[in-house]
This record gives sequence, structure tokens and C-alpha cells, in this order.
Amino acid sequence: MNCLEKRILKNGIVKNANVLKVDSFLNHQIDIKLLQEMALEWQYRFKDIEINKILTIESSGIAISAIVASVFNVPLVYAKKEKSQTIEDDFYKASVFSFTHNVENNIIVKRDYLSEDDNILIIDDFLANGCALEGLIEICNQANANIKGIGIAIEKGFQDGGRKIRNIGYRLESLAIIEKMSDKEIIFRK
Ligand code: 5GP
Repeated sequence: MNCLEKRILKNGIVKNANVLKVDSFLNHQIDIKLLQEMALEWQYRFKDIEINKILTIESSGIAISAIVASVFNVPLVYAKKEKSQTIEDDFYKASVFSFTHNVENNIIVKRDYLSEDDNILIIDDFLANGCALEGLIEICNQANANIKGIGIAIEKGFQDGGRKIRNIGYRLESLAIIEKMSDKEIIFRK
């Protein structure tokens, strides 16, 4: 069992059948030492790929990705949730259904920060149904940027996102894959 899995067992709170709260170490209070260990694990798993940029989505992906970007020594770009209708066309834009807030958001990345010259590692905290990842993939496709890998902290394996993303052919490395969870137990995929 790795350090993230151990920490989930210790401090994760299963809120309902589908939502895991990790506010005490990942999403609100943040354990930087744990993030450093996670970043090193991704560096090891992706040691054969060359990347020049990390891409994530605000807000909970940013802290993890900042540490990963520091370990890989590359810049971090995060997709912003569009606050008002952006009329300028200097942004890539995709629509993402938010699992946690149950609303559709537009996410945007300024064209200046993503291009066909970029080799991208996408990082996010959770993978549920895959909408956030699909939005980030869509943005990379608009920029003709190359997605070299995807790193997820916690994949909920009982939801469909992981299967969809792997089936498209992306290299997806999740540090903890939850097979099933309830308020009594959390079981990880081996
Ligand atoms: P998806 O788009 O794959 O359905 O959901 C992924 C996004 O929703 C992540 O960016 C994450 O912020 C949020 N999310 C999904 N499931 C959970 C969960 O169980 N707990 C928390 N805290 N966030 C989640």
C-alpha cells in the first residue's frame, strides 16, 4: 500500500456512495510532504516520457500540480473556470460537467500558453466519470498539443472515467484506485 492509499484510509471520509472527502490533506488543508511523495511517484512512473508542461484544472488540481511541476522542472498551466462569457477568441474553451457541483462550466486556457510545441502531462486530484479530463483533452486537441500522460491522485474505479480514458488510448497513472467504498471500508484495486 502506498502513502496516498494509507492516508486515504487514515483521513479520508466517505461522504456518500460516490464522494470521498480528503479535505484534511489534499483539498483544503494540504500536506505538502505527501504531495512531494506523490510527485516523485509520477516522476518514476513517467520516467520514459519527455514533457515540457503540466496542465490541470482549477481549483483542486492546482496545488498537486504545482509540486509535480516543480519536480519535473516545467511550468504549470491551469484551465480556469470561465466567470463571465468570454467573447475574445484568444482562449481555447471546453465545456465540463462538474461532478461535485452538478453544473456545467466552461473552462478556458489562453492560446498563448498552449501550442503544438507542447508535450503535456495532465494532472488532477480525482477521476470520477472523466468529464474534467475530457475537457482538458479537448483543450489540448484545440491547441494541437501532445498529451504524453495523465496522472490522477485518486481514481474511483467503480465510476466510468478510467475505463473511458484508457480505452481512448491515453496513458493514465492513478496513484490510488478505489474499487469500492462505504462508510465502513475503502477497498483499493491491487
Ligand atoms: P469527473 O469529471 O471525472 O467526473 O470528476 C472529476 C472532478 O470532480 C475532479 O476534478 C474533482 O475535483 C471532482 N471530484 C470527483 N469525484 C470526487 C470525490 O469523490 N471527491 C472530491 N473531493 N472531488 C471529486
